[in-house]
Amino acid sequence: MTFMANLPPTAELQQKDAAHHLHPFTDTADLNAKGARVISRAEGVYLWDTEGNKMLDGMAGLWCVNVGYGRHEIIDAATRQMQQLPYYNTFFQTSHPPVIALAEKLAQLAPDHINHVFFAGSGSEANDTVVRMVRHYWASQGKPDKKVIISRKNGYHGSTMAGASLGGMSFMHAQGGLPIPDITHIDQPHWYKEGGDMSPEEFGLARARALEEEIDRLGEDKVAAFIAEPIQGAGGVVIPPETYWPEIQRICDEREILLIADEVICGFGRTGQWFGSQTYNIKPDLMPIAKGLSSGYLPIGGVLVSDRVAEGFIADGGEFAHGYTYSGHPVACAAALTNLEILEQENIVSDVASRAAPYLAEKWGQLGDHPLIGQARSKGLVGAIELTPDKAARAPFAVEAGTAGLICREHCFATGLVMRHVGDTMIISPPLVISNEEIDELVEKAGRCLDLTLADLKAQGLYK
Ligand SMILES: *Cc1c(COP(=O)(O)O)cnc(C)c1O
Repeated sequence: MTFMANLPPTAELQQKDAAHHLHPFTDTADLNAKGARVISRAEGVYLWDTEGNKMLDGMAGLWCVNVGYGRHEIIDAATRQMQQLPYYNTFFQTSHPPVIALAEKLAQLAPDHINHVFFAGSGSEANDTVVRMVRHYWASQGKPDKKVIISRKNGYHGSTMAGASLGGMSFMHAQGGLPIPDITHIDQPHWYKEGGDMSPEEFGLARARALEEEIDRLGEDKVAAFIAEPIQGAGGVVIPPETYWPEIQRICDEREILLIADEVICGFGRTGQWFGSQTYNIKPDLMPIAKGLSSGYLPIGGVLVSDRVAEGFIADGGEFAHGYTYSGHPVACAAALTNLEILEQENIVSDVASRAAPYLAEKWGQLGDHPLIGQARSKGLVGAIELTPDKAARAPFAVEAGTAGLICREHCFATGLVMRHVGDTMIISPPLVISNEEIDELVEKAGRCLDLTLADLKAQGLYK
């Protein structure tokens, strides 16, 4: 680790960070008072900070480092592409080899009815493209009034104006005058929090039928599409009841609206299939992708487009007045292509289904026995545990949501585990290459942190 010797002391890095760097989704005053944790190195599923602390990255960065850190094949491919052609655009009737190869590979991996891709720089940009694309599609079909996109409360679709509008996070809408027009939100299929006395199956059906009611309320001739994550990630790893998606699919089949599956987290193996849509047996018209597409090694996103939409578009759309300077960036495409080759050659997706996911489900599920845990759930390699003072009632704490979650997260960092909190829900999304021994370590550390959190909550009178 000789290169670390060249770094200034942590305190100096933190001071400069505080002086000049505005962080995303961060209370800057609060952060600056504490100083940022500075991550300087990573390998496999582990991170090191500038103080030399080693941490198991239970979040794969931000749900993205699916093949783990330090994969030289990706680094070499990006380096070679940098030398050959570091940049060219795809606007003016030009293309380049890496974007062509990646588009072909994505068409091959995607479900059979999907054979086209529009590239973007991130998941948020991909969802901006989605809004433009579905409205332009319906206009091209002679239905310019089909504009409304139905989304869900507590969904996450990114942080640009359109992405945050599609998302259903009210604290995000509150800043910046969102949502933009012609986007509405229905209730989410979050049984643990909102299911009350219903069985998960009844609740899943009820929440799916909210889509039908919303289409009726708006008028089918006004509705362009429904967008949802197969599993809600940032909302707290909300795994829908098994009844939910089949009913959504039925409604979308019966009504003339497009179905958009936001695969930014679920795509590329997270659920044990290439796409979450395959895990839930749904047939989307559009699939925004990003994150695991390049395992986060370089920024890239896109929208996978079904034949129905692509053909309508190509036949009747004229020029699509939309695109990004970095749509199909050659170096990002080369990195993504190599990442997909690693996933394929090492059978990582099927290994998630046959080994890692069942092993995680068993071990993670045992955390459900902890006195502080109301529910432990996982699907593929995403999981959540719900902190509660009252297991039977699935009750929240008698203080502001997130108080207990934050205590737990801080214990995790100190224990050498990165686990994120969404309110009082602790969530994980580890690299897909995590071994069984590393899963044992993750769950063992999580259990230790729950013990420490419980002791703190008892001391504060929040758990009796
Ligand atoms: C992260 C995320 C996005 C936004 O992606 P960015 O690359 O952060 O812009 C969109 N949709 C989902 C489901 C996500 O998890």
